[in-house]
Amino acid sequence: MNSVEIVEVGARDGLQNEPDILPTETKVALIQAAIAAGVRRIETASFVNPRRVPQMADAEAVMEALPDTDLVTYIGLVLNERGAERALGTRVHELGAVAVASDGFAMRNQGQTSLESVDVASAIVAMAKAAGRSGQVTISAAFGCPFDGEVDPDHVVAMAEALAKAGPREIGLADTIGVAVPSQVKALVTRVQAVIGTIPIRAHFHNTRNTGLANAWAAYEAGALTLDSSLGGLGGCPFAPKATGNIPTEDLLYLLHRSGVATGIDLDAMIETGQWLTGVMGRPLPAMVTKAGNFPPQTAVA
Ligand code: ZN
Repeated sequence: MNSVEIVEVGARDGLQNEPDILPTETKVALIQAAIAAGVRRIETASFVNPRRVPQMADAEAVMEALPDTDLVTYIGLVLNERGAERALGTRVHELGAVAVASDGFAMRNQGQTSLESVDVASAIVAMAKAAGRSGQVTISAAFGCPFDGEVDPDHVVAMAEALAKAGPREIGLADTIGVAVPSQVKALVTRVQAVIGTIPIRAHFHNTRNTGLANAWAAYEAGALTLDSSLGGLGGCPFAPKATGNIPTEDLLYLLHRSGVATGIDLDAMIETGQWLTGVMGRPLPAMVTKAGNFPPQTAVA
């Protein structure tokens, strides 16, 4: 049977972009519910400046409260060496570094040029490996930049080739602002894979222009082994209509499972967690399967 690995990013990429700051115990409950449903790789926190991202200020406390297990890979997002040191002081199994495909976004997000972000991300991977953990890199704004506009795919391919030299566990391609379309995804995944050899590709999509799930399927068909998604489609700020969340985990699981692609995750359990999360956030979340229900319904199966 075909399979794809899901990385649940709701507790990090999702909550980081929500205006409300959730209590540590609610974040921990969200992560534990995802693990109980079968998620085996999960972004648990980001170790960034708490003044810039107050939603993630309790990263250490979240890690401390999570079960000490090697059955699940906890991923900590880090943008610089100081963040990597903080993350390595916790029980994260994996550091997720970020290299940015455009200078405009790289300067605003992490005060670096695109090429400098490749060097920093490579150094973070080296730090992870030296500490006996794993390290991976996501190339953000890989399909378009909010400041510079079009991103040259040749540049993204060259970045991936340079990053591969650091020996990351995988290289991610992120459509950070949700502008990609499937043909572009297919082309870029194929080109990047050709230059990074056996290093696997992970793909990360936002549903800003409603192309997120189509892009995820295109990435899968082009050979990406891992897809990021967030429970409920968390991450859409209700006060900024243009900012929308990651592709919803529930909707992605439905698409994959009904297409004969296994994920090891129990969709019904994730729908239940999505309904709980809707109550926590106090507003409807984007995930459509959580509103419409699984198909065929459980009662029809019995
Ligand atoms: Zn994202």
